[in-house]
Amino acid sequence: MSFFETVEPEFGRFVLGNAPVRQLASGFDWVEGPVWFGDAGCLLFSDIPNNRILRWTPGEGVSTYRQPSNYANGHTRDRQGRLVSCEHGTRSVTRTEHDGRITVVADSFEGRPLNSPNDVIVAQDGGIWFSDPHYGIMTNYEGFVAEQENPCVVYRADPETGALEVMVDDMNCPNGLAFSRDEGRLYVADTGRMFSQDAKEIRVYDLVDGRPVKGRHFHTISPGCADGFRLDSDGNIWSSAADGVHCIAPDGRLLGKILVPELVSNLCFGGRAKHELYMTATTSLYRIILNRQGVQVP
Ligand code: MG
Repeated sequence: MSFFETVEPEFGRFVLGNAPVRQLASGFDWVEGPVWFGDAGCLLFSDIPNNRILRWTPGEGVSTYRQPSNYANGHTRDRQGRLVSCEHGTRSVTRTEHDGRITVVADSFEGRPLNSPNDVIVAQDGGIWFSDPHYGIMTNYEGFVAEQENPCVVYRADPETGALEVMVDDMNCPNGLAFSRDEGRLYVADTGRMFSQDAKEIRVYDLVDGRPVKGRHFHTISPGCADGFRLDSDGNIWSSAADGVHCIAPDGRLLGKILVPELVSNLCFGGRAKHELYMTATTSLYRIILNRQGVQVP
């Protein structure tokens, strides 16, 4: 069996013929939000319906990092290496300080509660950018049913004050997001309102003076959607899809696929050379080693 599907010849240089898609752990309900901690030698990820953040350690396997997790979804690390998390249950973005205290970065906009922060990235200036779709308040599966009081947008939170600014407001439901390495571009996935037939796409924005402008279609993932994605050091986008992970060139061309037996929700790079791709996929955590290096913070 092959773990890859090559669409453009250059993809052949990105993958290693003898590196498998390996299932590292299984038995979860819906996993998301992987984040690599090279300093701690582990990966954290969310098992959202089971209200827990899990830790996978090479050679040891899975243990519980935090439970309850307030139905945490996406995670990243800020420029000081602190864990930044999106929580459906508290409808907030939090930061875990070096001493273990948990700081609420943001939980409301103009006096109204956020919807259910989903995915998060941190810019070079420390700004915390996150998507706020309504998925986590639409059912009791990944949080608590609640009324939607704010539009589904992408915010930037000031890391000191938590003050929010709307950065992307031309989507039905923003979800995965990532900067290009030089922060000249912002990619955001629109995965459509829940229980709708909204079109799904990745959109790209130029960042001018720290603000996204000229939003335009970039790529449509098929089958599935871009719930989460990360960039490699050459600017290729590695995105979740229903049949695995799709690699998309900076010009929007599909270059190839990593085939995964379960629907992939999210991914991140890790390992000593940031050459390992960790994939959360429905009930399992998978990894493949690539001939690529991820752009990862820190
Ligand atoms: Mg997501």
